[in-house]
Amino acid sequence: MCIFALLFDMKKILQDPVFKIISDIISEQNTPAFVIGGFVRDIFLQRPNKDIDIVTLGDGIELAQKTAAKLSPKISVSVFKNFGTAMFKHKDVEYEFVGARKESYSKNSRKPQVEPGSLEDDQNRRDFTINALAISLEKERYGELLDPFCGIQDLQKKLIRTPCNPDITFSDDPLRMMRAIRFASQLSFTIDPETFNAIKRNKHRISIISSERIVEECNKILLSPKPSVGFLLLEKAELLPYFLPELQALKGVDFIQGFGHKDNFYHTLEVVDNVAQRSDNLWLLWAALLHDIAKPNTKKFVENHGWTFHGHEFYGAKMVRKIFQRLKMPLNEKMRYVEKMVLLHLRPIILATDVVTDSAVRRLLFDAGDDIDDLMLLCEADITSKNDKKVATYLKNLALVRQKLKEVEEKDALRNWQPPISGDLIISTCNIKPSKVVGEIKTAIKDAILDGDIENTFEDAYAYMIKIAKEKGIL
Ligand code: ATP
Repeated sequence: MCIFALLFDMKKILQDPVFKIISDIISEQNTPAFVIGGFVRDIFLQRPNKDIDIVTLGDGIELAQKTAAKLSPKISVSVFKNFGTAMFKHKDVEYEFVGARKESYSKNSRKPQVEPGSLEDDQNRRDFTINALAISLEKERYGELLDPFCGIQDLQKKLIRTPCNPDITFSDDPLRMMRAIRFASQLSFTIDPETFNAIKRNKHRISIISSERIVEECNKILLSPKPSVGFLLLEKAELLPYFLPELQALKGVDFIQGFGHKDNFYHTLEVVDNVAQRSDNLWLLWAALLHDIAKPNTKKFVENHGWTFHGHEFYGAKMVRKIFQRLKMPLNEKMRYVEKMVLLHLRPIILATDVVTDSAVRRLLFDAGDDIDDLMLLCEADITSKNDKKVATYLKNLALVRQKLKEVEEKDALRNWQPPISGDLIISTCNIKPSKVVGEIKTAIKDAILDGDIENTFEDAYAYMIKIAKEKGIL
């Protein structure tokens, strides 16, 4: 951290008219207020943050309403009476106001009993030292940093540490275990050993956390610069089996007759990191995480040959829905995209190791549709061999597939292509009822086009339909 740049940033930030207005209001009514939490942390990390938390020793809702009224009559304040909080948006930034509070927890819930408290109480309830920093907005102390737990020192040491006894912190609200690992992954920080050991000791407490919350943290880990940091920590903390046992099951290597296979857990994480370097598509990152998920279930040893994982892409695609369902993730087109990526993830490389024919490329393009570029990226990311020669050959072959894809696409416009003859047209032309044979004719036309036997035009397809119908004796 360059101290001069930071002081400059801090001075600039404190010029924010919203902070000035808050300062005027609280000085008039003598109820101190502070900017607190992630926004303050991110000033020092020079990370953009558009969520500003204001904590006051007075009434948070009232302060929000007074501030908004002074800023502009157009601003509408959302009030959450039950939580004693209020927020408004101003110039793309969200300001949330709350009265300082003290918390006490019961065993079965991460939702605490809350009572009004001092700034110290409020800082004590924060999860990590780096998240407990506060800046005073009082006139006489404007801009003063309140750092009771040496959070700045931890920012410099790149350390995640709880301000209080970590066993109590994590047992009270086990989501904090996920948050610790997520911050380590997002910020490339390490977790203080005492804090980390407490996560391990309290791992079972994760069971009171909702799947939605867990997935939210997993998403943030996946979107961090190097997601493997987070997943390795989840594994090391023994948290992974509680919500993604299938990923945990990828870990380990078996040896028979001197044949081993790669450790699919570490391989998967390498693939995820490779994708993360080139894309911030959350669903492609999920596809990378799950691409080999069925390897343990499909693993077989073949005498004198070694290990096989036949069909892991089919079973893997099926497992995607089950995992999404269990984790209460969306069962919509995002899930279908992940299913499709898992199902097709071997296709480009299989193609690349064979003769790259037009018809195989057409089929791949037909099956992948608009997602072909993502699939190629996943496939390239999947090459994690330590043998440089092998890697170079695979990448060269995949480049050839990319070239062919371009050529075929230019020629045939196959992305999102639908065969030119519909089932209805087959029914009316052949004067038959909807039946299995309609599907057979449709598939025959599609195959003939993809194989290059006929042109991708209505005329050719129509003539072909007549031919097949005659062969089948229905015309
Ligand atoms: P992000 O915005 O990336 O999710 P953040 O910490 O910047 O992370 P919030 O999750 O909105 O933002 O949290 C704001 C602040 O509230 C945190 O910095 C921390 O001080 C406190 N906080 C949030 N969640 C918890 C928790 N589970 N336990 C204790 N304190 C928390």
